[in-house]
Amino acid sequence: NVINQFSRVAQNGRCSFFGNVALGSSISLVELRELYHVVVLAYGAESDRVVGIPGEDLKGVHSAREFVWWYNGHPDGRNLDPDLKNTDTAVILGQGNVALDVARILLRPTSELAITDIASHALTALEQSSIRKVYLVGRRGPVQAACTAKELREVLGIKDLYIHIKETDLKITPADEEEMKNSRIHRRIYELLSKAATAGPSQPSSGQRELHFVFFRQPDRFLESYDKKGYVSGVHLEKTGLKGIGSGKQIAIGTGQFENLSCGIVLKSIGYKSVPVDDLPFDNQKGVVPNLKGRVLSDNSGDPTSFENGLYVCGWLKRGPTGIIATNLYCAEETVASLSEDLELGVLASTTRLPKLGRDGLLQILDNRNVRVVPFIAWERIDKEEKRLGGLRNKPREKLTSWEELLKVAGSE
Ligand code: NAP
Repeated sequence: NVINQFSRVAQNGRCSFFGNVALGSSISLVELRELYHVVVLAYGAESDRVVGIPGEDLKGVHSAREFVWWYNGHPDGRNLDPDLKNTDTAVILGQGNVALDVARILLRPTSELAITDIASHALTALEQSSIRKVYLVGRRGPVQAACTAKELREVLGIKDLYIHIKETDLKITPADEEEMKNSRIHRRIYELLSKAATAGPSQPSSGQRELHFVFFRQPDRFLESYDKKGYVSGVHLEKTGLKGIGSGKQIAIGTGQFENLSCGIVLKSIGYKSVPVDDLPFDNQKGVVPNLKGRVLSDNSGDPTSFENGLYVCGWLKRGPTGIIATNLYCAEETVASLSEDLELGVLASTTRLPKLGRDGLLQILDNRNVRVVPFIAWERIDKEEKRLGGLRNKPREKLTSWEELLKVAGSE
């Protein structure tokens, strides 16, 4: 659906698509703003939040983003090579939808994954994986889990999976009740988890894959293996309790009690982070571009009158890494409404009065720098080739996972 939607836009005669162009290296933001009357930044969040605890750089500790890039065939993620063979236990930190995606990939029968568009290097590694137990660790309780119902149901519905949730973790307080009253999603998640806690047998059968939901635990440090120096062997977790901070929200507070959870691989799924380019105003604390309804503000002071004329932002770069695809649709509409309003009110007059070089100027600069622009028609070649290769393996698509291969197919007639 996403491909269809984007293709419709890209094929519109008024749209030019320039692929393989990186903001900040192929072209600077200052240059783009000189070339166009309006620039809208929509480049998302391609980095990760860090936990900031000892041991984070041990081998075997990966960010979920890297892992997702790896199994999705992103060219910059294909060399991750996570070790799934030397351990039977994986710990995932976080309980959002990305954490569930990662758990699903680790636990789903590979015969089912084989007919999806998963990258073939990932499928091979998963076929040889010895991981049987996955722990999804959340610092708060089942009422506060950050996932959504459809995604949780998909994980709970994995074939022949033993699910473990401690019944004592499901006890709720009046503050939890209040939270659920205010959020249908949280109530639904809690109901699904409560049902899953009692639905299956109390013990796994031999060899059965296991998914453990661990609540009220926050990572304190990553443990290093005794026999394999430099490698992770577990996570030191602190038990937590919840504390209300007004407006119905509860945060996790450490209790000073600790326990170890052994594992051979850790996937940190605690959120993505946007990265700034050039001298773009950026709020490092929140990881977003300061803005008012999509209009980029000149600094973080919160002064709503100092706009960067002609510069707009939308998506995760504007709001932070939250929300599903539909949330980004509304977000984009808000930004476009601001842009249209500014045009009508003449706010952009100082930039729109003079003609700008636009497309021709951009192509000239990129050509001078030997940047190989990939137009939409070339992307369509990649799409066609990936589908053809997928057809040979009974998959909807076989992703091309190196820049060389992608550019080669893009350039073929
Ligand atoms: P997320 O929903 O924000 O979840 C982050 C998780 O990490 C939460 O459980 C959070 O706990 C925990 N966390 C954050 N900081 C932590 C810390 N220092 N220590 C321990 N735990 C910490 O982020 P996400 O899973 O990366 O997803 C990003 C967005 O993409 C979400 O809006 C998600 O719904 C969306 N998404 C949607 C789909 C889909 O629609 N199928 C798929 C993937 C992603 P707290 O709640 O306590 O902060």
